[in-house]
Amino acid sequence: IDSDTSDEAVRATCDDATICKRFATSKSYWKDPYIQYFVRSVGERKAPEINRGYYARVQGVNHLLDAFIRKTECDCQVINLGAGLDTTFWRLKDQNLMPRKFFEVDFPTVVARKIHNIKTKPPLSKPLIETHSTDSLLLDAHSLDSDRYCIIGADLRDISNLDEKLKKFQLNPELPTLLLSECVLVYMTPSQSSNVVHWAAETFPTAMFINYEQVNMSDRFGQVMIENLQRRQCTLAGVEACRSLDSQKERFLKTGWEHADALDMMTVYSMLPQEDVGRIERLEFLDERELLQQLLQHYSISWASKDKLNLGLSHLAF
Ligand code: SAM
Repeated sequence: IDSDTSDEAVRATCDDATICKRFATSKSYWKDPYIQYFVRSVGERKAPEINRGYYARVQGVNHLLDAFIRKTECDCQVINLGAGLDTTFWRLKDQNLMPRKFFEVDFPTVVARKIHNIKTKPPLSKPLIETHSTDSLLLDAHSLDSDRYCIIGADLRDISNLDEKLKKFQLNPELPTLLLSECVLVYMTPSQSSNVVHWAAETFPTAMFINYEQVNMSDRFGQVMIENLQRRQCTLAGVEACRSLDSQKERFLKTGWEHADALDMMTVYSMLPQEDVGRIERLEFLDERELLQQLLQHYSISWASKDKLNLGLSHLAF
């Protein structure tokens, strides 16, 4: 597979994520009134274990993200790396949890699509305009910059270009910063993803990094997951770093982070508010609980922190 073909296959994964989230929200696993503006139709049915998996992913990531924003009393910035068509900016605005500035980075072609949707759908553009004070809003085909929301087209494998672009859009390294990568690092080689994590540790004295991706990929089930992606010409170049929860933690601890933790998603699922878990388990019948367990044991959330301002970031957990 040549590198253009595999990059294109990686870019297409943002549709998979959004299509699955769109389906799960149509079944009321959680609420997302904005996702419909990125994928119009609900699409074909997904298996209940897939929907529960996305529920755990979204609730798990949101739990840590919201805890960080509350800890900093919104006096912080968020950088979503490989954000795809993610709708977190609008959720945070609606929940009064908006950071000082919310940044997103993805490949320029993905960013161009996202910006086109924002431009043409008032429910997406209105909150952005409302939170902007001057008439100098930048909204061209490849970048968007307002007071509180910024979308940048860049390749995460080119760190100096990424750093330069973020600084051009008023990134403030001294501000407590939350970096998020959801199913992104796995598409890069271990050295490329280590570079990203290292750059983040070097750049921000007070920060937290949340990473969601595959784990325990060396067993039979993991092999099948890899083969399924390869069939779509999608290479998990970073699968080496997804060997175990320890290797997830190590990537952070080796690159300058002070504290790191990692849990598989079955554990996260069992630690989420059980009343809501009970509610979603009644939405659709699942006869093979083992299948859900196997699936969730192959995904993880890992997180790391550095805390120059002594905010107590290392206590953020489930
Ligand atoms: N984080 C989003 C979510 O969870 O809904 C999207 C996840 S999607 C599986 C992976 C995203 O990472 C895609 O949008 C892809 O374009 C982006 N991505 C992967 N490698 C990248 C790179 N080297 N530079 C920029 N974006 C990248």
